[in-house]
Amino acid sequence: MSKQTFMPSFKTVEELQAHQLQGLKWSVRHAYQGSSFYRAQLEAAGVTPDDIRSLDDLKKLPLTTGDDLRDGYPFPFRAVPFEQIVRIHASSGTTGKRKILCYTQKDIDDWERFFARAYEMAGVTPLDRVQIAVGYGVWTAGVGFQAGVEKLGAMAVPVGPGNVDMHCEFLVDLQSTVLCCTASMGLLMAEEVHKRGIADKINLKKVIYGSERSSVSMRRKVSELFGGVELFDIPGMTELYGPGTGIECPDHDCIHYWGDYYILEILDPETLEPLPDGEWGEMVVTTLTKEAAPLIRYRTRDITRIIPGPCTCGSILPRHSRIRGRTDDMFKFRAVNIYPSSIDKILSEIPGLGSEYQIHLTRDPGGRDHMLLKVERGEGVEPGRADELGREIIYTAKHKLLVTPEVEVVEYGALPRTDRKSKRVFDTRITDSVV
Ligand code: ZN
Repeated sequence: MSKQTFMPSFKTVEELQAHQLQGLKWSVRHAYQGSSFYRAQLEAAGVTPDDIRSLDDLKKLPLTTGDDLRDGYPFPFRAVPFEQIVRIHASSGTTGKRKILCYTQKDIDDWERFFARAYEMAGVTPLDRVQIAVGYGVWTAGVGFQAGVEKLGAMAVPVGPGNVDMHCEFLVDLQSTVLCCTASMGLLMAEEVHKRGIADKINLKKVIYGSERSSVSMRRKVSELFGGVELFDIPGMTELYGPGTGIECPDHDCIHYWGDYYILEILDPETLEPLPDGEWGEMVVTTLTKEAAPLIRYRTRDITRIIPGPCTCGSILPRHSRIRGRTDDMFKFRAVNIYPSSIDKILSEIPGLGSEYQIHLTRDPGGRDHMLLKVERGEGVEPGRADELGREIIYTAKHKLLVTPEVEVVEYGALPRTDRKSKRVFDTRITDSVV
C-alpha cells in the first residue's frame, strides 16, 4: 500500500492553473446564484458569471472587505440555505461586531484535508504526538489544529492555551513531539521549560506556530530554549476557513500556500492595482471550493509578497513570504510609514538584545511626536551594556528607518509574557475617540 498523502495530484503549473480556472468559474456562479450580497456586488460592477473565461478575468471582479462581513452580520457572504450549514466560527473582532463565518460539511472536510497537508509538509507523521496550545471554542484555532492532526492520523493532545503546568507535565509524561501555539505562547513555554530544567526530559522536535508575526530573534530564542526544535510558521484567518491554509516550507525560506483551494493576489493597498510577483503588498484571496461563505477578492489586510519560481524543496505549490504585518498595524511617525516588523528586524540584528520589545508613541503638549522603544537585554547580558546597546539601536533606526527613537534598555524578563498575542505598539497620540 502506498503512503497516504494530502498533497495535490497535479504536477505542473499549467495543471494547477486549469484547476484554478475551473474553481473560479464555479465560485463566481455559486456566489452569484446563492448570495444576494454577491449578486448585488457583481451587478454593480457589470460582471456576470459568464464573463469569467480566463484567470485574467479575476481582475474584473469587485473587491470585498472586512466591513462587508460586518455589514452582513451575522451571516455575511452566505451562499447556501441554512439546512446545509453545519457550523459557525467567529473572529475575536477588536472593533465593532465580530466576524462570523459559516461552514458546510464539505467546507469542514476540505479544511481538515488541507490542514493534514500542512502537517505533512512539516514532516509530521502518524507516529507524532501533537500538543495543541491554542484556543478552543468559537475560534477556528483549536478545532482546526486538532481536526488536521486526526485526519493525518497522528495523536492530538488538546490542552488549549495557558495552563503551563499541564503543558509541561504532558511534554514530559506523554513525550509530545510537536507543539502548536501562538509565537508568544511558544516563547513562554520555551522559557518555562528552560526555567524548570526539563529541556532534557522532553522529546519536542517541532513547533508549529501562527496567528501573529514573530521576529527572527524570537524564533531563534524559542528554538534554542527548547533544545533545538524546528519552527514552522502557519498562516490562517477565520474568513479563509481558519489556520492551515499553507505552511512554512521545510527549507524555511517561504510559506507554501494551497493554490488549489484559493487564488492569492498581491495589490498595492493604496491604488488597489495588482503588483508584480516579488513586490510587497496586500494579500487578496479568492476561494475556489468554499460553499457556505465563499470569498471573492477578499482584502485580508496582511502584507506579504509572492515568491516566483520553483522552490528548493521540490514542492509545486506556490509560495509567499512570511506575513510582514497588516496594513492597519502600520503607523505613521513624523510622516514616515513604519511597520512594527521593520523594528523587529533592526532589533534582531543587534547582538545583546532579547526578543521582547514595546513601541510607545506619545505626543507632547507642543504637538511633537515621540517614539520610545523599550527593549529587553538578552539573557545573561550585563546591565552595564545598556547605554551602548541603546546607542546602537538609535544609530541603526536613524539609518534604516530615518527616524530617531528614544530607547530604554530594560532587564531580561522585564516585559510581560503572554500566552496569546503580545501587544507591542502603544499609541496614545490620538486622545479623542475614533468614530
Ligand atoms: Zn519549499
